[in-house]
Amino acid sequence: SNPLSPPHPIGAQYQHTQHALPSYLQADNLGPWGNYLQQVDRVIPHLGSLARWAETLKRPKRVLIVDVPIHMDDGTIAHFEGYRVQHNVSRGPGKGGVRFHQNVTLSEVMALSAWMSVKNAAVNVPYGGAKGGIRVDPKLLTRGELERMTRRYTSEIGIIIGPNKDIPAPDVNTNEQTMAWMMDTYSMNTGSTATGVVTGKPVDLGGSLGRREATGRGVFTVGVEAAKHIGLEISGARIIVQGFGNVGGVAGKLFAEAGAWVVAVQDHGGTIYREAGLNVPALLRHVEETGSVSGFVDAEKISDDSFWDVECDILIPAALEEQITAANAGRIKARMVIEGANGPTTPAADDILAERNVLVLPDVIANAGGVTVSYFEWVQDFSSFFWDEEEINLRLVKIMKEAFAVIWNVAQSRKVSLRTATFIVACQRILRTRELRGLYP
Ligand code: GLU
Repeated sequence: SNPLSPPHPIGAQYQHTQHALPSYLQADNLGPWGNYLQQVDRVIPHLGSLARWAETLKRPKRVLIVDVPIHMDDGTIAHFEGYRVQHNVSRGPGKGGVRFHQNVTLSEVMALSAWMSVKNAAVNVPYGGAKGGIRVDPKLLTRGELERMTRRYTSEIGIIIGPNKDIPAPDVNTNEQTMAWMMDTYSMNTGSTATGVVTGKPVDLGGSLGRREATGRGVFTVGVEAAKHIGLEISGARIIVQGFGNVGGVAGKLFAEAGAWVVAVQDHGGTIYREAGLNVPALLRHVEETGSVSGFVDAEKISDDSFWDVECDILIPAALEEQITAANAGRIKARMVIEGANGPTTPAADDILAERNVLVLPDVIANAGGVTVSYFEWVQDFSSFFWDEEEINLRLVKIMKEAFAVIWNVAQSRKVSLRTATFIVACQRILRTRELRGLYP
């Protein structure tokens, strides 16, 4: 079929639906999904004949909204909004985390699922993209309430997840314990132990060594590679980090071990600063004990807004979406931004940073280390043969370095940002499988 030939007359009457928004989204308030759509628009001119399939990227394959009712400890009943979105499954089962956060929306989960499709294709793991979430502040629940909510949510999305269908994992405010409950609930419902239904499990329960640190290790690996290209010395570099959890905390630790100075850290509790570099191991212990960086003794407390003015070489946003915007992108002093979070930079901020010659290592490659080791975990679960940590880290670093090298070369040869380059590589992979598989029926 020739992509340049005019549309079939019967199809023509449906052409107006191309690029239309699903009716459940408001054009004036698209949220993160709107940012994702702009990123897709930037890649389409680079897709050649595959562009005729690009509309696939602009629509999630499947969206499930569930009601999650639970008994609260005080005897009342509470209802939570739950979501699971499968954006694309052309390259394999859906894959992506589950987020518990009070601001979770459908638009956000859709965008996160789409970024998973791109990310999984960028590192070439055999998955599509998916994401889930519950609109809840888990800090306000007791452990019993949290477990009941997690189990009921798993049961509700049980109709679309499975080791060969869609494999959840941890994300913001979910962890190994969440995955253990999810694995158990799914297994009880199906009547057999299914370790491969989720990744990021405890090591005792089919989890993988190295999974917990994998995202941060990937951030570090890609950061070191990119730094070589722009002649930035890691030893002695000044780094600021937003979010000091599973991603930012581990990345900060690895950079500090490589001789960099972590001079400022911001999280939901506040912002701390130390000109001569924070003691990262001590800070990690403080966060472990208190849940936030605030109140750390050996540091100065600064205002949240002044975080963006801190003199530094590298900025690592490792918290939530839409943190680097047109409002603060002009103030950032870093030469390089490594996106540990998903979607931290708006398209408008991307343009400002590019103009100011700040290199942005986009989420869809920079934070792909987590899902890469999730893939190793899933493979280990299927074969019931477990690898040692050294092998896992070696394979992780190899995949990240090779994927980044391909993306760097595409960015150079096409003269596009690393984000667009990653989208070019990934979307070509996704749409090639879309074309090869063809439309059913
Ligand atoms: N939540 C992580 C991410 O955003 C990991 C997903 C996974 O391991 O499936 O990439």
